[in-house]
Amino acid sequence: MKPLYFLPWWPSDYIWKEWNTSFDMGRMTGWTKTYLWEVLPNLIDGIVVSRMAVSLRQIKLLRQKLRFTGVILGDSGAHSYRNYEHPPFSCEDVLEFYAQGDFTYGLTVDMVASPWVRPGGLSDDELQSRLALTINNAERCLELHERYNYPFTLWGVVQGWDVTSYRSCAKALLKLGFTYLAIAGQRKLSLIRDAIDAVSEEAHQLGKKINIHVLGTGNPKILEFYIQKGITSFDSSTWLRKAWLSEKHNYFLVTGKHYDAYRATRVGLGEFDVNKLKWDIEINCSCYFCRSLGQQILLFRGHERNTRRGFHNICQYVQLLKAHRKDALV
Ligand SMILES: [Zn+2]
Repeated sequence: MKPLYFLPWWPSDYIWKEWNTSFDMGRMTGWTKTYLWEVLPNLIDGIVVSRMAVSLRQIKLLRQKLRFTGVILGDSGAHSYRNYEHPPFSCEDVLEFYAQGDFTYGLTVDMVASPWVRPGGLSDDELQSRLALTINNAERCLELHERYNYPFTLWGVVQGWDVTSYRSCAKALLKLGFTYLAIAGQRKLSLIRDAIDAVSEEAHQLGKKINIHVLGTGNPKILEFYIQKGITSFDSSTWLRKAWLSEKHNYFLVTGKHYDAYRATRVGLGEFDVNKLKWDIEINCSCYFCRSLGQQILLFRGHERNTRRGFHNICQYVQLLKAHRKDALV
């Protein structure tokens, strides 16, 4: 059911199957890497894999290594190279990457055209040239896609810094023939809403039926809008990454409540006894990760606990999304 939810994947997003809290920060050789979809096969609708995350040499075996047969959306990684002057990969390279990885969908090779990419922002000329590069690359990707008859579906990335620029980028891509448009994420939710409206209007004016994906934005406050507007899909890893990357708010519940993890990151617990800690909340979540860790899901300590807390967060996030989808049916 729409909108579909894709989780951006990074090579460190796994847990060791055999680990339990008695190993604490340690691990044994011969353990098995386990991915979220192996524990919960039907939780997410797909994953996003960035060109920045995997080398061309390793991409052929990715599906096999991840034991993942679902939908993969390929991304050139524009958000990761937003500070560069040009994309570090050619269109040829990126499309070949998608094809060799047996991806379902692939995004055109874009450049983030927003002032916030670096301190001091970008000049008007820079913004315009990034937008032009995004459109030129989209055209190039389309040519290559046709020439080599690649099996994945190519999505055009719509960049911009205000409604007008998003609109003109969308118009150019629609004229090139794209029917799947991916709106590059923005920090301001109001601009994302306006960009979605502008892109939809452009498509409507040209008499085209399109699918819209929103890149990198899954704030719970915008989910209702996605449903109203019939957004096909979106991706976000915020709730996963916040489990360990955020100073605060590391453990989320479907209710919207969030809690800080208890930090005990130094090696060697010494006198410190986790069983005697005073926790902010009593864990009563019944997800696989909370059941196996108990209160220690709240302990900010080591990759195993932190990633499991992130996976718990994604379980809660999907519940939240499902509640929104259900509301829309009533
Ligand atoms: Zn849980």
